[in-house]
This record gives sequence, structure tokens and C-alpha cells, in this order.
Amino acid sequence: MKSLLFQGQSAIEVVEVPVPLPGPGQVAIDTVASALCGSELHGYAGPGFPSGNFGHEGAGVVSALGAGVTGLRVGDRVGVSAIAGCGHCRYCERRQYTWCADRQFHGSMHAQTFVTAANACHLLPDDVPWEVGVLISGDALGVPYHTSTMLARYPVDTVAVFGLGPIGLGQVIMQTYLGKRVIGIDLSPERRALAEGYGAWRTLDAKAVDAVEAVRSLTGGGADACVEAAGRAVTAKQCFAAVRTGGVVVFNGEHQHNVELSISEDFIRRDITAFGAWFYHFGEFDAMLALYRQGLPIARLVTHRLPLTSGAEAFRLFASGRTGKVLLTGSG
Ligand SMILES: [Zn+2]
Ligand SMILES: [Zn+2]
Repeated sequence: MKSLLFQGQSAIEVVEVPVPLPGPGQVAIDTVASALCGSELHGYAGPGFPSGNFGHEGAGVVSALGAGVTGLRVGDRVGVSAIAGCGHCRYCERRQYTWCADRQFHGSMHAQTFVTAANACHLLPDDVPWEVGVLISGDALGVPYHTSTMLARYPVDTVAVFGLGPIGLGQVIMQTYLGKRVIGIDLSPERRALAEGYGAWRTLDAKAVDAVEAVRSLTGGGADACVEAAGRAVTAKQCFAAVRTGGVVVFNGEHQHNVELSISEDFIRRDITAFGAWFYHFGEFDAMLALYRQGLPIARLVTHRLPLTSGAEAFRLFASGRTGKVLLTGSG
């Protein structure tokens, strides 16, 4: 079968590899669609992935069952969570796999067939198109939805989203749908245009204006919530400067840089709450499915579709920072 091999330094080759076989508790899935995620770009541009690829948002048809798998059949349509829980700890009982200490990550989904844990599969009802199945099983809606459940604890009307990659754009769709006024901030004119099309109240070109001053002035002193979705230290700092007193800062973008914050000025004296939100809880799938059925226009997030064999081209496009969600179709 065909699979993408990340060779490092932004090189990708389509290689022939043996069809993977599911182990105990696992299933093999023939990929119909896999999505590109911003978290793959570091490895893509850097060291690569000698044994395969970082694809972790996939949907397809169950093609083989490992030993002991119940509840799934060959031929089932499934969307897959990249994170699988151990299945028996206190968090897994509540289907909060991301909190499980023994959770597992499954990758290499940019391939005609991939293997994952059976308990990481969501059955996709027939009214859910494949593209939507990928979006509501993976990061694309998962992160914005999970974030929205945490933000719901606070009084929020205005939301400033720093960074309009797929996660930031997903936040624009989600928060706009919830009736919030969303300000989207990015350097890319294409991504700002996408955000406007998704209903953003305002967008800001971070190169042309002082984003912090602009957010403060548009919101009369600061946004109720600032979402860091660029994965950069500078935008993390800006979130604290652009949020109102008593407001909330959310971290979605991952990075390893240190950010200097003042406990007194950034937190205590302004009653600021800051939290991180990672992926989604497996058990939140049904709520996301219900939102889709109610009209959440999450499918609009997909801007490009390419065959698996054009994987190199797909990543070149995505890495240019001008797209929404990019999908690979697994038929080769
Ligand atoms: Zn991801
Ligand atoms: Zn567990």
C-alpha cells in the first residue's frame, strides 16, 4: 500500500509499505480522508519521521479486526481520535482519554491503511460526510469544541483569536456560531479572508497594526477572552495585554519557548484566568455531532483536497500558511 514518508527538511516521498496488521484490541482502517494538522509542520520541516508520518486525523472503513475487538465490524465507517485511553482508569471510565496517564497516540494515518486502537474509533452515522467525520473526530472541531466547554464557565462576549491556522479558524467558526463577537488576528491575508467568511466580527493584520492596541480599542478596554492559537511566545504575551481585567486567556498553540509573565500585573491585580485546552474528550463526540446536525458550518473549514499521492504538494501548500484545513484522500 501507499504511505507518506516524512524524510525531513520538508521532503515527503510516497512509499510502498506492507499493509499494517491490527494487534489485540486494534483495528485496521482503510483511509478515506486524513487531515493535515499544524502540529505536523515542525517534524515535517525539521527531522522528519523515519518510520512513517505524523498523520493523526483520519476517517475510513474498518478493514480488519485484531484479537478481542468487539463493538466494531469490518465495513463500519469510523472517524478516529488520535488519542486512545487505557480503557479502565477513572478518566477512561468518563471517556476523558486525554487525561489518561497510559494514553496512546496513533499516527501514520497519511496512508491507504492505518492501525489504531478499537476504542479510539467513533462510528460515523450515514448522514455524516467523510470530511465532516474527520473534522469532528480530530483536532479541527475537537479543540475549538473542547475549548468552548471550558470558556462557557466565564462571561464572554468578545473573543480575540491570535493565529488563524486551522485551529484558530475553527475557533472563529465555533465562537461565531455561539454568538460571540470574534476578532481574528493573523499575518496571512488569505486566512483573514477565510475568518471573515466564517463570520469574524473583525480581522486584524498583525503586521499593519498593533494587534494589542487594536483589540483593546475595538472592545473598549480588552477582549473578554483571548485565544493563543499561533503557538508562539510573542502572541502568548499579547493575549495577556489584550484581555480585559477579569478576562480569560486560553492556550491552544503548543510550543516549547519560555514566556515571561508578571504574576502581579498579568494575573493577580487584574483577576486574570489562564488555562490550556488540549484536543477533546472522546465522550464529547456526540455533542459535536449534534452541533453539526444543528447547522454548525464546520465543513467550511476545508479549503483544499488532494489525493494521498500528492502528499508533498499538500504539505507545501499547507506550510505556506494560506490555507484552511487541507485533506488527503486515501484512495491513492
Ligand atoms: Zn493535531
Ligand atoms: Zn485510562
